[in-house]
Amino acid sequence: LEWTAAIDAIRALGPGDEVQLICHVNPDGDALGSMLGFGLGLRRLGVTRLRATFPGRFEVPVPYRELPGSDMLVAEQDAYENPALVMVFDVAAESRLGDLVSLLPTAPAVIVLDHHASNTGFGGINLVAPRAAATSVVAEGLLSRLGVPLDAEIAECLYVALSTDTGSFKFDLTTPEVHQLAARLIATGISPAEISRRIFDTRPFGAMKLSGEVLGRACLDVTAAGGRGLVWTYATTADLERYDQKPYVLESLIDPVRSVAEADVAVLVKQMSAGEWAVSLRSKGAVDVSAVAVALGGGGHRLAAGFTGHGTPEEIVQQVKDLLDVNLTQ
Ligand code: 5GP
Ligand code: MN
Ligand code: MN
Repeated sequence: LEWTAAIDAIRALGPGDEVQLICHVNPDGDALGSMLGFGLGLRRLGVTRLRATFPGRFEVPVPYRELPGSDMLVAEQDAYENPALVMVFDVAAESRLGDLVSLLPTAPAVIVLDHHASNTGFGGINLVAPRAAATSVVAEGLLSRLGVPLDAEIAECLYVALSTDTGSFKFDLTTPEVHQLAARLIATGISPAEISRRIFDTRPFGAMKLSGEVLGRACLDVTAAGGRGLVWTYATTADLERYDQKPYVLESLIDPVRSVAEADVAVLVKQMSAGEWAVSLRSKGAVDVSAVAVALGGGGHRLAAGFTGHGTPEEIVQQVKDLLDVNLTQ
């Protein structure tokens, strides 16, 4: 990893220099947590002209609204126009940056912190660790190399990022290092119980009812994925409207879908707009779903990936099944 280049670029910042932090569209806990946690660290280093943003609708999912450092968040149209430094968090490809991609070519320095195996290396300075469980692991690595001590505010952001991307320390890549980092974060005085309740175990009544309906219509195909089985379901914008819910309430709905014993692959198809769907793919191990996602224009990790689909949910799932058959017989 290009630690030295990243440290030099940050140390080279002058007093009036503007720093723009950006993360991926539809930000999750790792995108927001690593970005804001690192931003707080930059503040401790004396950086005052600091903004953070993400592309698309400026709507932070409710569970993440109270994150420390949220005061640096601005809508994408309020991003700095000519920042001295752009830092990019949890972004595998420029396509995940929407219109904010226009900041990259003119910025004197661009540092990318990420952990996706499919990362395209689009940054000037790339801190990409494909074996890291979360971008927050990379963010903490850079903070410690810059001599920024962890405090409770930085730790809360990084803990949210680490616990969301590891599924509360359950997923692949939950290494001794992940638990050692969690221990150092908790040692700052943050409350894992309080944070977990707020992030994972709190949702509106309508979101619970919506989950019930979406899970109730799931389909199981035990012959798909070379007989390893595929389970899938979908949620439409009409479903969200009926229960007066925002798209982010669907973020973790793939988890109960993936729990199905008869299927190695789980698919959740979430409508974004007419004919456009955000597709979440999960594998229990034998099947590489990132290969399918990449083939369909998306990306991600071996066991968790996604892409933007078009057509009906049935058509999208058929595309996934066809690609799984091709990949598994190769
Ligand atoms: P999720 O299903 O939780 O939205 O995403 C799972 C993984 O797939 C994440 O690591 C995410 O970065 C990646 N991913 C999801 N959707 C897309 C997409 O449309 N394009 C790319 N490149 N990656 C995606
Ligand atoms: Mn993410
Ligand atoms: Mn991540």
